[in-house]
Amino acid sequence: MSAPVLNEQSHRQRECVHRKRGARGGLYEGKSYVQSLQRLRARAAAEFATRVTSFYWSDADQIVVWLCDECAAALSALKTRES
Ligand SMILES: [Zn+2]
Repeated sequence: MSAPVLNEQSHRQRECVHRKRGARGGLYEGKSYVQSLQRLRARAAAEFATRVTSFYWSDADQIVVWLCDECAAALSALKTRES
């Protein structure tokens, strides 16, 4: 079997559950996504994390996260409220 080069690409991208519904959104650096999550209270972060395919936070530098506009706004709103 040859090396799955195409899988390598998708392996590094995570996305929120709404993408399958055709929601609009964009890509964010895994690192900034994780930093945003880390600013949330543990419970809020755990709830939010259920929306996005999980990955090891230590891999965040190599990961990009696709978030729909709603999830991106929710994450940014939570962040503002917590700070
Ligand atoms: Zn979403």
